[in-house]
Amino acid sequence: MIKNISILGSTGSIGTQSLDVADKLGLRVCALTAANNIDLLERQIRKYKPALAVVYNEDRAKQLRLSVSDTDTRIECGMDGLIEAASIPEAELVLNSVVGMVGLLPTIAAARAKKDIALANKETLVAGGSLVTDAVKENGVKLLPVDSEHSAIFQCIQGCPSHKAIKKLILTASGGPFFGKTREELRETTVGQALKHPNWSMGAKITIDSATMMNKGLEIIEAGRLFEMDCDHIDVVVHRESIIHSLVEFTDNSVLAQLGLPDMRIPIQYAITYPSRTESPVGELNLAQIGNLSFYEPDYDTFLCLNACKKAFRMGGAATAIANGANEEANALFRQGRIKFLEIGELVTGAVNNIENFIPKSVDDVILADKQAREYVRDRV
Ligand code: MG
Repeated sequence: MIKNISILGSTGSIGTQSLDVADKLGLRVCALTAANNIDLLERQIRKYKPALAVVYNEDRAKQLRLSVSDTDTRIECGMDGLIEAASIPEAELVLNSVVGMVGLLPTIAAARAKKDIALANKETLVAGGSLVTDAVKENGVKLLPVDSEHSAIFQCIQGCPSHKAIKKLILTASGGPFFGKTREELRETTVGQALKHPNWSMGAKITIDSATMMNKGLEIIEAGRLFEMDCDHIDVVVHRESIIHSLVEFTDNSVLAQLGLPDMRIPIQYAITYPSRTESPVGELNLAQIGNLSFYEPDYDTFLCLNACKKAFRMGGAATAIANGANEEANALFRQGRIKFLEIGELVTGAVNNIENFIPKSVDDVILADKQAREYVRDRV
């Protein structure tokens, strides 16, 4: 098992749970990064004593440098700092749990520095596509999913004789807080209502993405890229209890599923210990106590983001970066109270339909597509 880990996005929901897992596994933490939260990052620095800590925000980095001047941890900032944390020589594994497109360059940097990557930053794969998967292949490193659905699929295909044996991936979706609601009922949705997820405790961006089901749209693309499946071979089923984390259907119509309590420390730990398994702080699954598991078709008419992501995935090229960029912007604008809930899906759909698609040849091209999508959204608000 690996011993040294670098955690990008250590003050977020996945980051703090990853540190919890790293603690239990007795790993050495070489680098930590945060966007803004220097109070928590300082506590983490004092506890884990990493060689490097990075704050994306430059002013906050200056503040932190002063407050931890009595420690041996070096403080850096910005994208250069993130890239350094992703390629720090001591680390064997980089766990990338930053939120959004900002995780793309660090993921590629980690691959080039020959680090295995535990990926919680799905936007990296959605926007970067083959630029990321090619960097992983060319450098012979592992890309291990942390997202619970993708970890479930990854666990189900262990021992699978060949890719040809896989017929279909079936992603489960909780349906979020607005399952069963019509567009009419969602017209006046508040940020507070959208932030109340029934099963999972997560950061604000992804919780809104779950409410719009954009999260599942992104996960379809993420699954396609991780497991080399096209859009027609990835289904979504709404499963309200979040006990089955996803399934794989094989050519003989046998279906395997991975189950467990909805706690991210299971997929985080598996990405770190793979292919081994070890004891976990997560509780046992008691099916008799849960009683019933329920399943439904997703509502594509209410949750427009799902179809927008499917369309972008089929289009290929920069379209998935466009869908993601439009969503990152619209999601933030909704949280700031500047657009209505339903506008998120409309803006993502509009961006996919109206921005001219092209084949990105470099990360700069992906960043350009992302910028175009954000501008498209801002121009309409
Ligand atoms: Mg997920």
